[in-house]
Parts: sequence; structure tokens; C-alpha cells
Amino acid sequence: MIKLKKVSKYYKNTRVLKNIDLEIKKGEIVAIIGPSGCGKSTFLKCINGLLPVSKGEIFVDGVNIASKDTNLNNIRADVGIVFQQFNLFPHMTVKENIILAPIKVKKMTKNEAEILALKLLEKIGLLDKMDRYPEELSGGQAQRVAIARSLAMQPKIMLFDEPTSALDPKMTNEVLDVMKALAEEGMTMIVVTHEMSFAKEAANRIIFISHGEIVEEGHPDVFFKNPKSNMTREFLRSVLKMEL
Ligand code: ADP
Ligand code: MG
Repeated sequence: MIKLKKVSKYYKNTRVLKNIDLEIKKGEIVAIIGPSGCGKSTFLKCINGLLPVSKGEIFVDGVNIASKDTNLNNIRADVGIVFQQFNLFPHMTVKENIILAPIKVKKMTKNEAEILALKLLEKIGLLDKMDRYPEELSGGQAQRVAIARSLAMQPKIMLFDEPTSALDPKMTNEVLDVMKALAEEGMTMIVVTHEMSFAKEAANRIIFISHGEIVEEGHPDVFFKNPKSNMTREFLRSVLKMEL
């Protein structure tokens, strides 16, 4: 579903991603962890074409996203991304936020988009907020709406960049529950997160990145119990205060 071949990304002369080789299969839930500044956000942005890679190739569903024949709008429709900051349009209601892109990009009729929006709002438990404005929502509600807005494009893959870092524990759980439900439905997901309980419970694979390189990856049962690399151990111990 997603394949990276020797991907490097430079900002000016600094190499932020180094020779990343990775394959992610349909339905996989991959959690990306790593220290601040190691390249996690850059990695996600490259995958949905928000940033061009400097070297190497990325394939989404067999399509080379850097090829000049590829329409990046199609890639971005297939690959949804949810950021820490919800970026909802403040002057639009919840429902208007959700139906905008399906109408503009996917050419849905307003009626089709509204039916879909109501279905998604029901799924995230916020049907009663459809006519509210973003400023009237809690952070957790706004983030769930941001997820619904992404899902309205009917993506094949969902990327999450620290979706709960700005939220308190209760709101974090509301958002993680929505993400777990999505994972159970079979969505392919890449999640940058510090929520190790989520990573343990929901992910099939943990990838630890440091200085733009994949240091270690593995199934959560193995990864957390028995990290191979000292760098991983150190990270889990110091940053996440995990006992090892
Ligand atoms: P993470 O998400 O893991 O914290 P980022 O991908 O945001 O890391 O950043 C990786 C590195 O690239 C950092 O050193 C950051 O300062 C640098 N960086 C990020 N965006 C830019 C940019 N637009 N221009 C120059 N350097 C950048
Ligand atoms: Mg980041």
C-alpha cells in the first residue's frame, strides 16, 4: 500500500530523512515514535505529497507520487492527514467543515456530502454538534471533527501527527477511541504518537526513528518488552518514563 525506497529529505543542506526503506501493507496500523526533531512530521508530509522528497521514491498504492504524471490532489485525497492543531475553518460550522472538500475535490453533490457528514458525525459521537462552530467545541471534539473531515474524503490511508498532544487525558481518550474504532474497521494508519498505551494496544508495528533513520521496528509485544538497540531503550526509558 505504501512503499518507500531509499527516501532522503534535505532542508537546505541538512539531511532530515536518511535512506528510509519501508513497506506498509493494507490494514496495518503503524506507530511511529522518536525524539522531537528526528523527522517524524517530515516523514508523514512526504508520504502524502505535502513535501517533495530529495532522493528516493514513494509509492502509494503502486503510484509513484513524485512522477510528473501523478496528480497530487488524488494522492492527498487517498491519504488523509490529521495534525496536532486541528486546523478547522473557524468561520464554518462543523458540518460545513466536513462537506467542503468532498464537494470541491470529489465532486459530490451537497446532498451526498451531507449524508456522509451525518454518518461520520454519528460515528464520532458528535451528531448534536453539526451546526456548531469550531470555537464552541472542546479540543477533543474539534480533533474528532478534524478526523471526520479527513474521513469524508474516503481515504485509503490515514496519517496522524501527534493527534492528542494538545489534549488533556480525558479528551485524549475520546480521540484515541475514535482512532481505535477506525483501526478495527481495517483502515491503514500511520500514527506518530507518544501514547504508548495506544501503540501497544492498537498498532501492529512500532517504528522508532532517530536522526531521520529507522533505528528499530517490531511488533509491540516484542518491541516494548525487549528493545534491541540501546538508543531505543534510552528513548523509552527517558522520554516515555517506561520501566525497562
Ligand atoms: P519531528 O516531527 O520528529 O519533531 P520534524 O520532521 O518536524 O521532526 O523536523 C525534523 C528536523 O527538520 C528538525 O531538525 C527541524 O528543525 C527540521 N525542519 C523541519 N521543517 C523544516 C523546514 N521547513 N525548514 C528547515 N528545517 C526544517
Ligand atoms: Mg513533529
